[in-house]
Amino acid sequence: MEKLIFDYSKKGNSGVSITNLKNIKSANEILPKELLRESELKLPEVSEQETVRHYTNLSSLNHHVDKDMYPLGSCTMKYNPKINDKLSAIPGFSEIHPKQPKSTVQGALQLMYDLEKYLCAITGMYAATLEPAAGSHGELVGVLIMKKYHESKGEKRKYILIPDSAHGTNPSSAFSAGYKTLQVKSNEKGCIDLDDLKEKMTPEVAGIMLTNPNTLGVFEEEVENIVNIVHEYDGVVYMDGANLNALLGIVRPGDMGFDITHMNLHKTFSTPHGGGGPGSGPIAVAEKFAKYLPAPVVEKNGNEYAFKSTTDDSIGRVLGNYSNFSILVRAYVYITMLGLKGLEAVSRNAILNSNYLKDNLIKTFEIPFSRNCMHEFVASGENFKKFGIRTLDIAKRLLDYGIHAPTVYFPLIVKEALMIEPTETENIESLDKFIETMEKIAEEAQENPDILHNAPVNTPVRRLNELKANKEMNIRWIKEENEN
Ligand SMILES: *Cc1c(COP(=O)(O)O)cnc(C)c1O
Repeated sequence: MEKLIFDYSKKGNSGVSITNLKNIKSANEILPKELLRESELKLPEVSEQETVRHYTNLSSLNHHVDKDMYPLGSCTMKYNPKINDKLSAIPGFSEIHPKQPKSTVQGALQLMYDLEKYLCAITGMYAATLEPAAGSHGELVGVLIMKKYHESKGEKRKYILIPDSAHGTNPSSAFSAGYKTLQVKSNEKGCIDLDDLKEKMTPEVAGIMLTNPNTLGVFEEEVENIVNIVHEYDGVVYMDGANLNALLGIVRPGDMGFDITHMNLHKTFSTPHGGGGPGSGPIAVAEKFAKYLPAPVVEKNGNEYAFKSTTDDSIGRVLGNYSNFSILVRAYVYITMLGLKGLEAVSRNAILNSNYLKDNLIKTFEIPFSRNCMHEFVASGENFKKFGIRTLDIAKRLLDYGIHAPTVYFPLIVKEALMIEPTETENIESLDKFIETMEKIAEEAQENPDILHNAPVNTPVRRLNELKANKEMNIRWIKEENEN
């Protein structure tokens, strides 16, 4: 186990050596006394080499997509071309300051302007904003626009409809914007139950948040009917477009009749993610919602790029400065590098890979909604219960074989769910390896269930008590444990 960096600390060690300090005053000489620290800051004193080794060792303890397959459903953990990182790090992008004169950052503004246009073309929408810092943030911004739209007509609506298969961020965004949620049931095909929708759609409903393809990896075939039912009461149809990986160049939310959609640039448009951020969740809207977009919006006057002044209709600002810019650069490079044909190939391969896994795994695992899937599908560990094995055991055993576990116990409408998303970047060898590994685990479950109960055994830490970790969060735990 890698030690804490504090455990490497030795008085006097340092990673930097600043020479020639003659003309530089110390903080004690410059700052007023009341602002000075009372006791010395406890920082580790380590050499540069120790620091580099420490973080290099840490980086290999956890699983990541550069290490092996990461089929985490709904999260689109695909391989991210390194050129994206490289270009977002060039000084012209990485060293600009949000407050520097606009005339000196014309290239960055042009990139934002063009990216907005690309995202509109990809989604079939009229206008976009790059401001939201995550998918869930995009949802909140979308719902606030929905609210502003109804308020502009002098209406105060109470509810937002959310399907029972929805991602947890949907109800939480609706709630954060001040709405109550009403759940819409799924039918036996895993799609929205239209009768239930008709019953719940009333003039008190502000709109619906729909994920398409939904979290079962199933395309909502009745999407046009759904849109019409909601529009009949002037409700707003919001698409959770986090799963755009399945739709690029094939169908567009705008063409399906959606009014607002968000995209997760860090999922679909290739930014390394999963470690807690940063993210980027732009939203795109139909024409009648464009005036509500948050500030700032980039505009082009002749050959000059600038920020449009905020209108009274705008919902205001949703983030300091101008979004998580380095992620925009990665998305821009990814989109321009692939072009529309390339993006379409991304989605077609994502769908192909997912169906390949599904059609092979169905021999061993129950797959409740097993018709053709989009970029992901949901298997169930239900038929392993008779051996005393749960989905969590299967997921933990996968870690022993060097593969990240799929998303488990989500969506809630499938018992013992294993939500699998291979993404387009895995080749047939790695897909076959995943299938063989899953088959092997299924065999172990019957012949030697204890191996699964004890898994993982090959990872730096064994099975963690996740409940305790959530209820009694104590990030000093390891250190204290060592000291005792
Ligand atoms: C990932 C995801 C979100 C939330 O996106 P974040 O960037 O994690 O906030 C919302 N909906 C769906 C379907 C998702 O997969």
